[in-house]
Amino acid sequence: MPEYEVHVDRRKCIGAGFCVKLMPEVYSLDEQKKVVLREGVKSGENAMSLGVGKKSLNSSVMAAKVCPSYAIDVIDRMTGKSMLNIAPGEEIPVRKIKAGYDSLKEWKMDPKGFFTVKPFPDEGVIRVRHYNAKHQLSAEIEGRTAEEIYNTICRDNLISSLSHAAYLGSELQKAEIAMRKNLHYVQDAPLKI
Ligand code: SF4
Repeated sequence: MPEYEVHVDRRKCIGAGFCVKLMPEVYSLDEQKKVVLREGVKSGENAMSLGVGKKSLNSSVMAAKVCPSYAIDVIDRMTGKSMLNIAPGEEIPVRKIKAGYDSLKEWKMDPKGFFTVKPFPDEGVIRVRHYNAKHQLSAEIEGRTAEEIYNTICRDNLISSLSHAAYLGSELQKAEIAMRKNLHYVQDAPLKI
């Protein structure tokens, strides 16, 4: 008998589909956009469950943790405890932080180099060039969306600072919007909408 049980509470599901994206072989959405466990059994009026073994534990926990409405849980059948190790209802001290940034004082060069970003609306692509710390062109990345480009750049280890990654994400999003809306894009300048 499988050691763990995936449990879904369909009443909590808001149909965002993250679980389906991550594990389409396990989850699907019905016509009401509510989660369904493909191989699961009904365990209540609006609940389903599915036994999973140790092999599937990590992927099951990961899919449960991406659910924004806590509709999925993974239970250890022996102890009856959740394997998610999260405590969303538990209150902890909340820091109030006022945002601020002084580029002259705080900006630091990423040791891995820098990027140029350019959208090509006629082709429906954004092209990004990576220059290393010696200012040598080291990679050309082409993609259709900001998301696929920044994830490729992170996966290829072309960026090393968090603030640089955030900057690149925002530039790429601007470039994607400019491309879709036929706006003029200038790197480091605000989009004129
Ligand atoms: S991730 Fe959560 S909210 Fe989204 S479809 Fe799955 S169960 Fe529903």
